[in-house]
Amino acid sequence: KVEAGTEDLVQKDRAHLWHSMAKYNEKAAPMIVSEGEGSWFTATDGKKYLDGVSGLWCLNLGHGRQEIAQAAYDQLLNMSYSPLTMSHVPAIELSTKISELLGESYTTYFSNSGSEANEVAFKIARQYHAQNGKPEKYKIISRYRAYHGSTLGALSATAQANRKTKYGPSAPGFLHVPPPYSYRSSFADRANSDLAAADYVEEVINWEDPETVAAFILEPYISGGGVIIPSPEYLTRVAEICRKYDVLLILDEVVSGFGRTGEMFGFMHSKDAQPDIITMAKGLTSGYLPLGATAVRSTIYERFKKQETKAHFRHISTFGGHPAACAVALKSIEILERERIVERVATVSQSILSKLHQLNMLPQVGEVRGIGFLYGIELVEDKETKAPLSDEKVGAILAACKEKGLIIGRNGDTIPGYQNVLIIAPPLSSTEDDLHFLVRTIDTVLRAQA
Ligand code: PMP
Repeated sequence: KVEAGTEDLVQKDRAHLWHSMAKYNEKAAPMIVSEGEGSWFTATDGKKYLDGVSGLWCLNLGHGRQEIAQAAYDQLLNMSYSPLTMSHVPAIELSTKISELLGESYTTYFSNSGSEANEVAFKIARQYHAQNGKPEKYKIISRYRAYHGSTLGALSATAQANRKTKYGPSAPGFLHVPPPYSYRSSFADRANSDLAAADYVEEVINWEDPETVAAFILEPYISGGGVIIPSPEYLTRVAEICRKYDVLLILDEVVSGFGRTGEMFGFMHSKDAQPDIITMAKGLTSGYLPLGATAVRSTIYERFKKQETKAHFRHISTFGGHPAACAVALKSIEILERERIVERVATVSQSILSKLHQLNMLPQVGEVRGIGFLYGIELVEDKETKAPLSDEKVGAILAACKEKGLIIGRNGDTIPGYQNVLIIAPPLSSTEDDLHFLVRTIDTVLRAQA
């Protein structure tokens, strides 16, 4: 349906705008959004929608924060760009703040996106080992179902076949292990399938030869691959294995960073899981401006602190660490702390989760998973066989939510039929009323379609 008055926009959109997530669709008009306030946005048809996925896990503080817009404005007016051969105050302050939040000394490289932050992490890991006289220690392990970005290196670490098969061979040196996915575990015969998945990483490192493995990259909680929430011991065990073999632990906290899971960073739920490298984007600026960050333990950075050309890290990113983006990130972190938003997420999520868990009794709900403000509802045709709910039925649930003014997402795996996990990740600053509306709508829709 094309809303009156937007025909021209729709026509131009179809002719000239290449969308990244929505498939080309000649029959359905694109949803054009024009305004946002708090956790809500308004489409050109005038209808308001609650954004139940925070844009794309990024708009943590919602739309319309005057202070954040002002920080960008002030910085752009004062100095709009800083040459890469120089330094600038917002980047200095932000890197210092990140180090403080991480609880240990880290040195941060700024870029533009989550994908680029991961590319930087891989290059740093490989150069680090080369600097230690081990250029053959270059392999990078990631997990099936993981999403780490869309550029060719990050895509090689991404282990969802359908996202990459059209784009030729992956970069060499990337390999994958099964995720700690207890609902459909590759290790179902083991009492603790999460720990079995962690132990398997050690087996793979040994099979490959530890002297060839540079790093293991993982999200503390898989988001894009179906919201997989392992026990905190999984990450502790993985970190221990990485330390044992001098394999750098890279944590992709692009989604989980900055409060999404009810801690400032996802790894903080686990003991002794301090990463060697941690990548951030999205919530770093609360989605207001693009910024990626790769924070590296300062003890690792020591290896790069030499004036010889060999030690110089080669990665140039013209807009990386843009002064306005850094100023926005600083302001956004200030608000998170001042309004004690992360603590609130931890508390409020308990009651949201207990309400969502009540949906477990419905025939099409296989499992409800979640931590903080990150939830997944895995939908099935049959609880016994766990056959995924059909594409059409999952689509109908999303459409019914949208009809009622709630936008949520779906993901899982790209294996056909396995986009069967509903994704719910509201802005961290959502009001109590917003959250009630969210839970009530999902409850009503799922019961109606049970
Ligand atoms: N890592 C994770 C876990 C992500 O979810 C994403 C984006 N969805 C990325 C990396 C890539 O971030 P970007 O889209 O900013 O490149």
